[in-house]
Amino acid sequence: MARLDLHTHSTCSDGTKPPEWVVRQAADNGVELIALTDHDTLAGIQAAWDAARHAGIDLIAGVEISVNDPDIGELHVLGYFAPDAPLEELERQLTVYREERKSRARRTVDRLQALGMPIEYESVVRIAGRASIGRPHIARALVEDGYVESVQEAFDRYLRNGGPAHVPRTLLSLSDSLDMIHRSGGFSSLAHPTRYDDPIGASQAFAAAGGQGLEIYYRNDSPDEIANGEQLAQRLGLLPTVGSDFHGLHPSELGPGTVPMPEHQAARIVQTLKDLSP
Ligand code: AMP
Ligand code: MN
Ligand code: MN
Ligand code: MN
Repeated sequence: MARLDLHTHSTCSDGTKPPEWVVRQAADNGVELIALTDHDTLAGIQAAWDAARHAGIDLIAGVEISVNDPDIGELHVLGYFAPDAPLEELERQLTVYREERKSRARRTVDRLQALGMPIEYESVVRIAGRASIGRPHIARALVEDGYVESVQEAFDRYLRNGGPAHVPRTLLSLSDSLDMIHRSGGFSSLAHPTRYDDPIGASQAFAAAGGQGLEIYYRNDSPDEIANGEQLAQRLGLLPTVGSDFHGLHPSELGPGTVPMPEHQAARIVQTLKDLSP
């Protein structure tokens, strides 16, 4: 079993560990190739490069972009880039996209204030630090001010999808995200198909829009889910990818680089990623 991990998060989005920690841990777990794929940002890539060089492993610059498909709902698209790809244009587009996260966080804080929890937007910004701002940071502000005991309670009572303080994001379309990735010379893969209500429909929509990979070796998906995913990927002409989706949020979470992938599949995706050119 080859050791790859093409889906990890750091403190640059909603992970709890800095990029260099994630890379070092992956290397300790025997990983030869890792991608850092923070939500809607490339901010951690430089630190990850330095750590990967130090640890003697390969790093792929990556990102996880949230999109909305009118038929399927919210999908997450992974993008992977060549080491020398010029990513300025992508970074600029992501910056605009992240601004939307800020205005949405403000509106969420307004809702919480109206619900009798006057947390400060500035506290959320401080908690997020250099991360791209999201609901987990708002949840931590609620914990900090004593309105809930835990981040999970904040989600369960207020912030979960459809919850009283949930403000949906205005998301990119699937084709816009694929354009952004492919125009920068990147390779696209549909993140965690098994997590959508309709995994087959989601994968079909992704393939039809010009997507390239399918993350079928995902976290602790069952052997049945993996077997179905392998068949689906083959039928749709998508290349299987692997990811732990490491966030460092729970002690029970799989560490970076601990999701197995068959050798022949690993060889295919490694070759594809190594052949990427800007
Ligand atoms: P956002 O990108 O701001 O919409 O926040 C999404 C993140 O919030 C996810 O990546 C999870 O880390 C977290 N999250 C979403 N829903 C829940 C939930 N019901 N319980 C706990 N965490 C959640
Ligand atoms: Mn996340
Ligand atoms: Mn995701
Ligand atoms: Mn993820």
